[in-house]
Amino acid sequence: MSAIPIETPYFTFHRLKEGVYAAVAKEGQGAWSNAGVVDLGEELLIFDAFSTPAAARELRKLAEQVTGKETRYLLNSHYHGDHVFGNQAFEDAEIISTSTTRELSKTHHVIGNLEAEQEETKQYLEALKKQMEVAKTPAQHISLSNQYDEMAKVLAALPELTIVLPTLTFEKKLTLHGPARKVEFICLGGAHTPSDAFLYLPDDRIAFMGDLVTEELHVPIYHPESFVSILNDVIKLEVETILPGHGKISGTSLFETQKNYISYLIGETKKALKNEMALDDFKAQFQLPPSYEHWKGIKGVEGNLSMLYHHYHD
Ligand SMILES: [Zn+2]
Repeated sequence: MSAIPIETPYFTFHRLKEGVYAAVAKEGQGAWSNAGVVDLGEELLIFDAFSTPAAARELRKLAEQVTGKETRYLLNSHYHGDHVFGNQAFEDAEIISTSTTRELSKTHHVIGNLEAEQEETKQYLEALKKQMEVAKTPAQHISLSNQYDEMAKVLAALPELTIVLPTLTFEKKLTLHGPARKVEFICLGGAHTPSDAFLYLPDDRIAFMGDLVTEELHVPIYHPESFVSILNDVIKLEVETILPGHGKISGTSLFETQKNYISYLIGETKKALKNEMALDDFKAQFQLPPSYEHWKGIKGVEGNLSMLYHHYHD
C-alpha cells in the first residue's frame, strides 16, 4: 500500500488519526463532496457517499485496503445528491440517516425514465453554459463551470445509477460503539436542508460536518436562525479538526467563518426589511464584504439574499 495521502482520480485520501480518514473531493471528477472513513475497531463506518457510484466504489475499495476491514455502516449527512448518489456502492451495508433525510431522499431522487432523465440533465447543462457566458464575476464563472463538470459526471453515471435509501433512521443522536472508538451521529435540526446531521468523534476531537460547514462557499441556507444556533452548539463540542462538506480539512476557525457569514447576511436582510427595501433594490445595493468576494456557489450570495428576504418578510 502506498503512503498516505493517496491520490485517486476522484479524491485525495488523508489520514487524520490512526483509523480516521478524510476523502477530500477533487473538483469536477465525480466525487463533488467530501467523505470520511472511521475504523470502529472491527468494522468500518463511511460518512457520505459522493455524487457518483464510481467515486463511492473507489472510496470503499481504498478504505478496506488501507484498514484491512469491511464496511458495516454508511452515513448520509443530508439528502443532497452530491452526498448520496454513491449510496449503491454500500447496498449491503447499514445505511443510516435521520428519518427526515430518508424521506427527502425518497421524494427528491426519483429516477423514472432514463432517457427523460438524461434529456433533462442535458438541458440543465446547456442552461449552465449559457449562464457561464454572462457570468458577472470570476468566482461565479468558476462556480458555474464546476457545477457543469460535476453534473456532466452525474449524467455519465445515470445509466447505472439507482437510488438506495437509508435502512436505519434516527432522530437526534445515534451512538455507535466499537472496540476502537465510539462515534456520535448527531442532528440538531435543519440548517442547510430541513435535516442536517454531522459525525462527532469525541475521543479523537474530530467532526465530519457535511454541509453544515463548507469552505469559501455561498452554501444554500434553509433555516438561518437554526444554522447559527447549531454552529454555536457544535463549537461547544471543542473539536480540533473538521472535515467540511466541501473544501479542505480545517481547524475550528471555519465554524466562526461560517457563522459570521450567515449572521452578517441575516443582519443585512433585517436592515433592508426594516427600511422597507424591495428585494431587487436590496440585492442591487448589497455590498459583499471583500473577505467573501472569491467565495463560490452557483447562485452566489444572491441566492441566499433572496432566501433570507422571503424568510423574514411577512
Ligand atoms: Zn448540500
